[in-house]
Amino acid sequence: MCGIVGYIGKKTAQDVLLNGLKRLEYRGYDSAGIATLDDKEQPHIARSVGKIAELEKVVAKEPQTGHLGIGHTRWATHGGVTETNAHPHHVGNIWMVHNGIIENYKELKAELKDVEFKSDTDTEVLAALIDKNFAKGTSLKDAVAKAVKKVRGTYGIAVFSPLEPGKIVVARLGSPLIIGVGKGETIIASDASALLGYTREAVYLNDGELAVCSDDNVDVYNLNLKHLSTNTETIEGDLAQIQKGGYDHFLLKEIMEQATTLHNTLSGRIDPKNGTMHLGGPNLTTKEMKDLRHIVIVGCGTAYYAGLLASYYMEQLIPDITTEVVIASEYRYRSFHLPEHTVALIVSQSGETADTLAC
Ligand code: GLU
Repeated sequence: MCGIVGYIGKKTAQDVLLNGLKRLEYRGYDSAGIATLDDKEQPHIARSVGKIAELEKVVAKEPQTGHLGIGHTRWATHGGVTETNAHPHHVGNIWMVHNGIIENYKELKAELKDVEFKSDTDTEVLAALIDKNFAKGTSLKDAVAKAVKKVRGTYGIAVFSPLEPGKIVVARLGSPLIIGVGKGETIIASDASALLGYTREAVYLNDGELAVCSDDNVDVYNLNLKHLSTNTETIEGDLAQIQKGGYDHFLLKEIMEQATTLHNTLSGRIDPKNGTMHLGGPNLTTKEMKDLRHIVIVGCGTAYYAGLLASYYMEQLIPDITTEVVIASEYRYRSFHLPEHTVALIVSQSGETADTLAC
């Protein structure tokens, strides 16, 4: 789960969105995008694989002038890391970003036979479901509520439509969403660090709630569309403190978050119903997996140690496979021979370790 930002106000939305996305970079991500609505109610979208700096280059070619928009950093769970799979997603009259996993996306997709899906994501299925409800003449808020009620899984979403300009509808279940209330502007984010510098007054959305946000108002509802009273809280602390989530050090935070991180990483990939896994990355057939005889795990530093631990598990669980763990900075200069039926697992936390990339 990565990051969401949204903005409605007088500032140029693209600047606030890109700024917010940069604040969320510390959480890690593989691609990013923004969508805005200009003052003639025309939507514009820009997406790119890689760092926010790449997205900035795309946006610089065609600057977006609108004052309302949504942005996203993606950590792919469904569908590869491509521009088409990056958020925001656009279906019909809906523009949407999503953090989390729609576990029943296949069932929902089967009900949306007339939709031509452009991406491989679970997110686009939810966007299509909202669009279908919206097309029946309901308000955007009602269309979102009706759609998310059918979802099994986790979501933090931000949605806009040119048919209801001036508002962003957000909803959450198991994925954080905070609505910053400024003077004549509203900033939405999945993490308080993106709101700092704009406002310290915020509405923390609870699971099973949705909100309709405009530049000067936030209305919160439950999924039965009962209007709820809103409590504005003050965000305490500076940027570094917020990003450290109350811990003294990032290291401590990462240690304490291990259980949640493991859970998040695995939840989109394990299929408990069928007792199997979705392993999007290696793209191996079941036969290729069964034929495997040799696994090489490549990494540096902590990634290397993690590889060592994994190799001990693998040796215990799959005894007829040889597992070898190598240090990338050595391996890249060796003249090794890889026997047939070998797979290499290349591990890098940042995705940028030069020796590992060279391997
Ligand atoms: N499941 C969505 C996707 O793969 C969202 C992932 C995220 O939380 O960044 O596109």
